[in-house]
Amino acid sequence: MLEGDEDDDVEMETVTATETELLVETRRDLHRHPELGFQEFRTAGIVAERLRAAGYQVQTGIAETGVVGTLHGGAGTGPTLLLRADMDALPIAEECAHDFTSTHAGVMHACGHDAHVAVGLAVAERLGRSRAEWGGTVKYMFQPAEEGLGGALGMIEAGVLEGVDAALGLHVWLGLPSGVVGVVGGPQMAGAGEFEVVIRGKGGHGAIPHETVDAVLIASHCVVALQSVVSRNVSPLEAAVVTVAAFHAGSAHNVIAETATLKGTVRAFNPAVTKELPDRVERVISGVCAAMGASYEFHYRPEAPPTVNDAPMAEIVRREAVRIVGEERVRTDPDVRTMAAEDFGEVLARVPGCYFFVGGRNEERGILHPHHSPRFDLCESCMPVAVDVLHAATRAYLAGGTTG
Ligand SMILES: [Zn+2]
Ligand SMILES: [Zn+2]
Repeated sequence: MLEGDEDDDVEMETVTATETELLVETRRDLHRHPELGFQEFRTAGIVAERLRAAGYQVQTGIAETGVVGTLHGGAGTGPTLLLRADMDALPIAEECAHDFTSTHAGVMHACGHDAHVAVGLAVAERLGRSRAEWGGTVKYMFQPAEEGLGGALGMIEAGVLEGVDAALGLHVWLGLPSGVVGVVGGPQMAGAGEFEVVIRGKGGHGAIPHETVDAVLIASHCVVALQSVVSRNVSPLEAAVVTVAAFHAGSAHNVIAETATLKGTVRAFNPAVTKELPDRVERVISGVCAAMGASYEFHYRPEAPPTVNDAPMAEIVRREAVRIVGEERVRTDPDVRTMAAEDFGEVLARVPGCYFFVGGRNEERGILHPHHSPRFDLCESCMPVAVDVLHAATRAYLAGGTTG
């Protein structure tokens, strides 16, 4: 706590030794038993059981495996705050050597959602213990399938946001040192979508090119021409990405390929730019293919809208984080943002809220591999910080704190 802040608020519980032990134990247990999106049956079972024990009304099986715990505070009416943790793991074979390595072949908690569940349960339990002290309602959303499978949208379609006034969530983040909090007002993470293009030319002998329509050459021109979308169609004041990440064509050294397939991703912070990018990409492909005599199919799938923080909600998180970890360990500069995407953006597109990062990097201990790496790990000492900040921001919001 900083000097001069003692006038604020009630004394609030902070992480105890037993709570820290339980955080680590829970995270490691989930890490050993990772489950892919929409298959989080064991995880959801643990979540539901602990929420019930903490006094929550619990609904299960929402969007397949989602769990919602609802708890009304004992100190009168007030707003309804949605808190969210994601539960799914990734189809990655773990390469870490610690003693809680995944026991499910080819499945790994390589994004830190194991920590999110552990932190979420700790916050939920703490709110249960302090129920008499706060007013309003907490709705805890434990969602399935964050990793590109639409878990948040499924729960929203099932009505999880009904009656919700605001929302908070967090991601353990390897881009920041352990326990450093990163939060900005406005976009924190990008909106994203994925595209696939199949270019159809006319195959033939490698020695007789004039009788073919060479899909490799045309797809190559497409890849180069697509670089102009960000540099010439998007304002230089906006952040955007167009990445062609896969290029498949041809099979022999002397056969001109008839088809080529490109796969890629588009990303932007500004929702309007996110919407515009796929049209721009398709226009370039259409023009290049027309000029060179090929046809094409274009498929686009939006993944998530940008995760855009409401400024007053971000300010609550920033203020509480400063009280807990100190000004020097709270980052609010634009570099804490990322062009990675997150389906909590679906929630923040509908209700005001804040999604923030809690650093999980620890170079001295070799914990520096990025999210989705088979060697991903996180510094567990970030978890108590995450619990404290999320809990404090929750209590501050419920106490009417957007203006304080
Ligand atoms: Zn991820
Ligand atoms: Zn994630």
